Amino acid sequence: MYYIIKGHNFVDETVSVLMIFYPNDKYIQTDSVAEGTTLVSVFDGKSAKAQLYTDGGLKAEAMETAENTDRGEIKRVIGLSIARAVNSIKNISLPWGILTGVRPAKLINQGLDQGRSIDEISEALHNKYLVSREKLELMIQVASEERSIVEAGKGKIGLYIGIPFCPTRCLYCSFTSYPLNRYIAKTDSYMDCLIKEMEFTRQFTRSREIESIYIGGGTPTSLSEAQLDRLLSAVEENFGIPEEYTVEAGRPDTLTREKLRILKAHNVTRISINPQTLNDKTLELIGREHTAAMFINAFEMAREEGHDHINTDIILGLPGEGEKEVINTMEGLERLSPESITVHTLAVKRASRLRETLEKYSMPDAEAMERHIAIARRYTEKMGMLPYYMYRQKNMVGNFENTGYCKKNCQCIYNVQIMEEKQSIIALGAGASTKTVDPATDRIERIFNVKSVDDYITRIDEMLERKRALETLL
Ligand code: SF4
Repeated sequence: MYYIIKGHNFVDETVSVLMIFYPNDKYIQTDSVAEGTTLVSVFDGKSAKAQLYTDGGLKAEAMETAENTDRGEIKRVIGLSIARAVNSIKNISLPWGILTGVRPAKLINQGLDQGRSIDEISEALHNKYLVSREKLELMIQVASEERSIVEAGKGKIGLYIGIPFCPTRCLYCSFTSYPLNRYIAKTDSYMDCLIKEMEFTRQFTRSREIESIYIGGGTPTSLSEAQLDRLLSAVEENFGIPEEYTVEAGRPDTLTREKLRILKAHNVTRISINPQTLNDKTLELIGREHTAAMFINAFEMAREEGHDHINTDIILGLPGEGEKEVINTMEGLERLSPESITVHTLAVKRASRLRETLEKYSMPDAEAMERHIAIARRYTEKMGMLPYYMYRQKNMVGNFENTGYCKKNCQCIYNVQIMEEKQSIIALGAGASTKTVDPATDRIERIFNVKSVDDYITRIDEMLERKRALETLL
């Protein structure tokens, strides 16, 4: 679809609101009304006006007046005018209103830090951003869980280590992930560089308490048993054993009993084994190359090897899935009784294969997604879990959220710290991005590593030089 902007320069914000209604469109900025659908967004210094044209004819318009001239307020009225104009035609439910940010719970905590009450913050989000009462309740619940974890982690740091290899690439994947069969010959060189980066980085982290270590990817358990053992030994040697130590064992097809033993022997406290769905037809369609039975087998094997904190990730909104499939997945998980479940709603990312072939699949609409989320939530409640962290992404089916649920005292500290952005997280490996936070000002600085495995290996010394900035930032 096309859009025209006059009197303001909130291009990203305009597109973000359009994405709520037209999640898989291409958005083209233009200067005159075009064929098809065109949005015109105008700000005249006091009010925002949005007009929607179809094939040259005006179909809808809406106007909102700003309460002051703050940038945030101008952005809000522009977004609200667009949402009201488009929704007068689309008429869809907007559980998150015009809120497009990634970290909804953080907004509540920011408001509290500014001395506002929960009621004041909630009313503003409901009346000015159209957030539904149900989502507000979720935001408040999650914000309160996150707040106590942030408080306990003050002055500490987190560490992320990326292993960007997977057995195959899932249909919806947009992460830094390389298929193992093509990269197998490079995994040892990658490990050499990663360990070099660990040895270099420890000089900056030595004086700080490491609260959590998270080894993610990719799928870290794609590494061979010997490589996994080498990785975990190097982590321990350079950074010690933290309070929380997570390893993503995401793909059940990468797990062996020996790998589970290695993880346990190195004092890993939390693993994540992810089925995404327990329906074999969908698993095949999304290219996971494992069955539901393989996931159940891996989970039970992990329990036998003493893993007492297992998270499972699932995705709602996968192609072809309806309520029956969601119930089947949740019942299967209930039988296994994991300590936590992260419920994602499908995001169709630009870098995914799914984006290119979307029209081939039948995808659930927003109303169906609301029902699927409610089913998942009901089952987590039955399992004694509460929501404790949450984030949103662009291009999510129905513009919903990802929510982590857990049993009592089973929150993942790392996940919360990433969301609240109050703690420095040092990240190592290809595609890793380090984020330091100045506790006095909350100012965030980032240090990026190159994404490609080949570049990471050939430019490792440059990555180390970039890390030198930690000397003053930590
Ligand atoms: S397991 Fe995760 S990182 Fe690997 S291909 Fe699938 S979605 Fe991507």
